[in-house]
Amino acid sequence: MIALPERRTQQILFFDADDTLWENNIYFERAIASFISYLDHREHTPEEVREHLNHCERRTIAAYGYGLRSFRQSLVTCFEQLSSAPVTAERHARIVSFAQSIADQEIELMPAVAETLADLASRHQLLMVTKGDPTEQRDKLERSGLAPHFSAVEVLYEKHESAYRVLVEGHGCEPARTWMIGNSPRSDINPALAAGLNAVFIPHDFTWVLEHETVDQAAPGQILLELPTFADLSSHF
Ligand SMILES: [Mg+2]
Repeated sequence: MIALPERRTQQILFFDADDTLWENNIYFERAIASFISYLDHREHTPEEVREHLNHCERRTIAAYGYGLRSFRQSLVTCFEQLSSAPVTAERHARIVSFAQSIADQEIELMPAVAETLADLASRHQLLMVTKGDPTEQRDKLERSGLAPHFSAVEVLYEKHESAYRVLVEGHGCEPARTWMIGNSPRSDINPALAAGLNAVFIPHDFTWVLEHETVDQAAPGQILLELPTFADLSSHF
């Protein structure tokens, strides 16, 4: 007989949003695929164009932060730098439409998220901790219908170790009872562990390439769980 994991009581659970609560990166991947075929480069392969777009995105994000406006800017910059054709008003409109297709998406929750969050909220304190454009992220939360489960919503500029420390301090969280739950090793798991929190890694098959990183080990006294699905949270918390 397999022993069930012991459920912890009264924990503080921080939830990532994009690709943890709802789909996000798949829409970007589709938009990027459309952009690459529109660019239709004669010399660079699609992989090379993608590589250059990643480079443009890193630079835009460093200057303007995450969000659709940055993504739109990255597409325009990438086109300007790789195409011999000028960015006419018509081409600009076309490029912008690839980013707009993402904004027009309905919120698509990951499997079992609605019922699992409702269950967890009955026993624990839940906070949403995401990064990106605050207006875009809060709008997605509203449309998701999940807002009532969270006691607080934090949209950070970047999810690094010091941001987690400020968050824990600001909300008076006890690190030993606090968990960061998400799909990104780079933004959710590693910096939260570095800040002394516990973490739950729920991998997503299509995590954004800029979020890839090797998952760190938990230090003694901290716990890192890796769960295959969101619904598995209910067995541990
Ligand atoms: Mg995420």
